[in-house]
Amino acid sequence: MPIAKIAEDRDRVILLKDLDKYCQYALKLGADEARVVDASKIPVEDAVAFKCRVPQCFGYNTCAQCPPHAPKPSEIRQLLKSYSHGLLFLRRVHSEVLKRDRNDKERRAAFKSILEIVSKLESAAFYDGHYLAVGFSAGSCFSSLCDPNLGCQVLKGEKCRFPLKARPSMEAVGMDVYRLIASSGWEIYPYGSDANPEDIPVGNLAGLVLVK
Ligand code: SF4
Repeated sequence: MPIAKIAEDRDRVILLKDLDKYCQYALKLGADEARVVDASKIPVEDAVAFKCRVPQCFGYNTCAQCPPHAPKPSEIRQLLKSYSHGLLFLRRVHSEVLKRDRNDKERRAAFKSILEIVSKLESAAFYDGHYLAVGFSAGSCFSSLCDPNLGCQVLKGEKCRFPLKARPSMEAVGMDVYRLIASSGWEIYPYGSDANPEDIPVGNLAGLVLVK
């Protein structure tokens, strides 16, 4: 793949063309939906990140990419001011997969696939000259990439086992994913630990790459 020369004055037409190309790439990588969103319209709420703590998520304080270690919503609101667009995508999975034990192979693979799509999109944008592209994923890298029995290396003061793949989830930093997905016209349902998969037509896993 040719690597784009970095230009001081980025052409907006090129950016929009590239974003369209990343939508197609996301679909090729396994996403079921992909679209470009206005970065200023991405909803970020303290309450979303607070929901990781109360009631406490299994991932809370277990890895460097989850609260309380993940970037705070206030940082993300500030960060979003530096970006013009986001590439939002989702994968639909059978709702039963999300209910399974966190060690279940299919469940882990579904979450890991989002991290993989995010890192490939981010890398494509980087080599196109959008070098500040940054991605957010779904779930916790603690259970989708690492062996939870070994614990997070970063929290032990060591290097991340998957530094190029580990990303905070959109929720962990306060992005209101339900609202973002619903406002994109895509089907989404609340999915909590008491949910009965038979009552939920589809499970969604989403990722986002910010580009400027
Ligand atoms: S990938 Fe593993 S070592 Fe890296 S931040 Fe996530 S849990 Fe920690």
